[in-house]
Amino acid sequence: MATQRCPCGYQASTQKQCRCSPLQIDSYLGKISGPLLDRIAIHPTVRPVDIDAWQALPSSSMSSAAMRDLVMRAREMQARRFADTNGVDCNARVTEGMFATHCTMSLDR
Ligand SMILES: [Zn+2]
Repeated sequence: MATQRCPCGYQASTQKQCRCSPLQIDSYLGKISGPLLDRIAIHPTVRPVDIDAWQALPSSSMSSAAMRDLVMRAREMQARRFADTNGVDCNARVTEGMFATHCTMSLDR
């Protein structure tokens, strides 16, 4: 769950000044129900990203093509893993009964 801290959205910003009154902020945050807030244990403040500074960082990211190749290799491995099963072709469709056969852990590498 994520929300702004005030109606204008700049209360936590270092780039722009929030101009919301305490009453506006209380009214805004008061719209979130107490029972809902009671179930959220961590309330971190996330500052806005300076997009220019972020884009100036050296890129260590993987290209979409390289990422696609990894995904396709993983899907091929899963297809081989589940070749003898009926209707299961990927990890997401493994049923509980398949754990003992297909999800054993090995200490060997
Ligand atoms: Zn504000």
